[in-house]
Amino acid sequence: EEQYLLLPGPTPVPTNVLRSMAKPMINHRGPEFKELIAEVTEGVKKVYKTKNEVVIFPAAGTGAMEAAVVNFISPGDKVLAVSIGVFGDRFAKIAEEFGAEVEKIDFPWGQAADPEVIRERIAQDRLREIKAVVVTHNETSTGVVNDIKSIREAVGDHPALFIVDAVSGLGAMNLETDKWNLDVVVSGSQKAFMIPPGLAFLAISPRALRVAKNCSNRRYYWDINSALKYLEKGQTPYTPALSLFYGLREALEMMEKEGIDNIIARHAVYRDMVRAGVKAMGLKLLADDRVASSSLTSVIAPEGLGANRIRRRLLERFNVVIAGGQQKLDDVIFRIGHLGNVLYLDLLAVLAALEMVLVELGVDIELGRGVTKAQEILMQKG
Ligand code: PMP
Repeated sequence: EEQYLLLPGPTPVPTNVLRSMAKPMINHRGPEFKELIAEVTEGVKKVYKTKNEVVIFPAAGTGAMEAAVVNFISPGDKVLAVSIGVFGDRFAKIAEEFGAEVEKIDFPWGQAADPEVIRERIAQDRLREIKAVVVTHNETSTGVVNDIKSIREAVGDHPALFIVDAVSGLGAMNLETDKWNLDVVVSGSQKAFMIPPGLAFLAISPRALRVAKNCSNRRYYWDINSALKYLEKGQTPYTPALSLFYGLREALEMMEKEGIDNIIARHAVYRDMVRAGVKAMGLKLLADDRVASSSLTSVIAPEGLGANRIRRRLLERFNVVIAGGQQKLDDVIFRIGHLGNVLYLDLLAVLAALEMVLVELGVDIELGRGVTKAQEILMQKG
C-alpha cells in the first residue's frame, strides 16, 4: 500500500523519474553517456548556482563528505568544524579519521551557529594555521538552517577553505555557491533532487582545485583529480550509476522548468504551513522561526508522550511515515520532512492525521485547528 513518505530523505520520487530509470544500460564509455554526463553536470551546476566544477560520485551523501575531506584536507591540517547537530558532528569525525587536527565549535542542538563566534575564533588565528572551515547548511537532525552567507563573511579573507555540507538543504533553500564564495559544497540525490539515494555531488572552486592537487591524503575512489580528468572526455573513472543518471536528467528537467527560485519559495510555504499547523495544535517546535529549515520541521512530543509512539500510530493508522529524533533527540522529537516532490495537499493530510492520532493518544486538542491554520497559510502564500 502506498505511504505518505514525509522523511527528510529519501524523498518521494516522481512517477516520470521512476519511469525514466527503467531503461536499458548503455556503454559508459560511449557517446550517449558522454552527452548524458555533460547535460546533468550542467544541470546540477544550476541548482548549485555555480560555474565551478561539479563532480558526481556513485555514493551516499556521506561518501561526498569523505571526498570533501580526503581531497582538500591533509593529515595534520588544522580544521575548524562548526557543528549544530548530528551531521556537523559527522563531518568533524570524518576529518578526524583522516588525520586532521579538528577543533569543533558546538552550538546547542536546535540553534544555528553564531557567525560572531566564528569571526572571533578566526581573528585569533593570526598565524593562519586553520586550513579549512567545515559547516553544515541544513542540519537535518534538528531542522535548523545555518546562515552560510554570514558565516562565510565571518571567515572573511582568511585563506582557509570553506567547506559546506548541503546534502539536505541544496535545492530547498537558497545557497549561492559562487556569490557567497563557497569552496566545496557537498550534496546528495535523495533529498531535493527527487531521485533515489546513490548519487553524491561536489562543487569545487578553482582555489579548492589547487589545494586538491597538493593534498597528501590517500584516496582512490574519491579522487576528484581523476574524476575531473575523465569528465573532460565525458566519462567517469569507474562504472557510473547509470540508472540514477537517467533519473537525474529527468528530475533536473522538472527543476529547470519550475525554476530554482520558485522551488525555494515553494519549500518556504511548506515550512510555514507545517509550523503554523503544528503550533495551532499546541505543540512546540524545536527550532525558532528565524532559523527554521524549509526541508523539515522538528516537533517536540507533548509531555509524557514519546515521539516514537506518535510515529508508530501515524504509520499504523494512516500509512504516514515521518522521521524520529536522532541520538539524544530520540523519542524527544519527531521530524516531518517536506522536501522535494511533495504536494501542499500531502501536508494538509499529514497534519490532519497527526491531529487525529494525538486525540486518540489522549492529547487535549481540537480537531481541525492545525489543518485550518495550514490552509490559511496555503491560501495566502501558496
Ligand atoms: N549531511 C546531511 C545534512 C544529511 O541530511 C545527510 C543525510 N540525512 C547526510 C549528510 C548523509 O547523507 P547519506 O545518508 O546519504 O550518507
